[in-house]
Amino acid sequence: MTTPTTLLILGASGDLTSRLLLPAIAQLLQQQPERELILRGAGSDDWSAERWQKAIHDAFATVHAEDQVHRVDGSTYVQADVTDRAALSALVEGVDGGLVLYFALPPAVTAAACEVLLDVTLPTGTVLALEKPFGKDEHTAAELNELVTRIVPENQVFRVDHFLGRSTVLNIMGVRFANRLVEPVWSADHVESVLVRYDESLALENRARYYDKAGALVDMIQSHLLQVLAILAMEQPADLDEIDLRDAMAAALRATRIWEDDPRGSTRRARYTAGTSGDRPVPAYTDEDGVDPSRNTETLAEITCEVQTARWAGVPFTLRSGKALAGRRAEIVVTFRRVRHLPGGFTGLPTDGGVLRFTLGPDRIDLELNVNGGDDPFALRRETLSTPLGEGTLLAYTEVLSEILDGDVALSVRADAAEQCWRIIQPAIDAWRADEVVLEEYPAGSLGPADWATSA
Ligand code: NDP
Repeated sequence: MTTPTTLLILGASGDLTSRLLLPAIAQLLQQQPERELILRGAGSDDWSAERWQKAIHDAFATVHAEDQVHRVDGSTYVQADVTDRAALSALVEGVDGGLVLYFALPPAVTAAACEVLLDVTLPTGTVLALEKPFGKDEHTAAELNELVTRIVPENQVFRVDHFLGRSTVLNIMGVRFANRLVEPVWSADHVESVLVRYDESLALENRARYYDKAGALVDMIQSHLLQVLAILAMEQPADLDEIDLRDAMAAALRATRIWEDDPRGSTRRARYTAGTSGDRPVPAYTDEDGVDPSRNTETLAEITCEVQTARWAGVPFTLRSGKALAGRRAEIVVTFRRVRHLPGGFTGLPTDGGVLRFTLGPDRIDLELNVNGGDDPFALRRETLSTPLGEGTLLAYTEVLSEILDGDVALSVRADAAEQCWRIIQPAIDAWRADEVVLEEYPAGSLGPADWATSA
């Protein structure tokens, strides 16, 4: 039997809670019959007990876990302003056992609630789970870190990056470290370039309130894709625990900079115009409800970085993500250098020495090799060894929640790493704000701006 933990979601009437957290709770309960969880919600909306129960039921149904609803039968929802000290105190009063405070709130409200928490007595061992974006630049991230660690110690702070709960991202470590075929060639001596791409066909989907202030660079690259870069580029940790793994990831991020320190030459941005997605018309981004065109928010961003270590210097790591593109394409592509010498006599000479590709959702690994042995035994051609890794039975948020409830912070973003991610992209933010990088356009449903397609 595990000790019951109270999971108190602040901002429980919001989108994150109903769309991601509640389904993850359902899956977690389904997967862990012994798990005892007390679920409480608080938010500014005036929800009745029935409305909250319906939100739980509907969310559990999305993962076919209606049979688990009874395990959170006593769950309560309280209307409260969580930036009010008395209200916040009342919410945590009487909690017996472990407490996880999940901030499913707009970032400014999270910061205000943390200020107030300084004066609230919390049960020993309370875990704080904070959502991205963590701050809005390196300075504000550092301020928030300082504030948060005055409330609880760092090893009780969970900065959520649900990409780190994705099985494919974790699989990178297995493939990298457990194979003689891969581990010794994981360096600039053998790798020519690395691409981390997260292209979505989805457009704005009514998320202007958040997205129009963030854009693709902050929404995806500053957080998720830089965490993926850290896993790809880190030195091998002695252990996959909270100290060794997070030390290794943070060291990789500290060594990362925009390529040649030149955001004008090493970053690109674009915004979608009207188009179609499948057979559905998509309005121009600037015509979407809630968008302020004068913000010049990009819906497609790309930055190329260098990891300035002996292992990686000189290898471009390109991170790219966008919305309203032709199709969903989420992948990590490691391209190996051409071999130093190929015996004369071969034809169809390859342009690279092979490619290792991780595809996210459905998860797959492809190893593209140069082989001969076709009709003409001297002609080289490309063949791919593939293995599907399955759809992944658990949602990324289920992994994340499981780690939070177990107090295992190994795959949460450490304070310094969160600040580094802002430091890395800050030159791009500044150059884009100063209009030093042109904001290109692409029709919704296309591959992106025409001259990006080849390198994409
Ligand atoms: P929403 O705006 O949908 O939800 C936030 C909730 O917090 C709303 O119900 C809001 O109520 C409530 N709230 C605001 N101020 C207070 C307050 N003072 N006291 C109590 N409740 C308050 O945002 P999301 O759920 O989309 O996002 C929450 C966080 O999660 C953000 O940091 C976001 O960046 C992050 N995130 C969201 C993802 C998503 O897909 N939604 C994905 C990854 C991260 P009201 O509406 O009445 O103001």
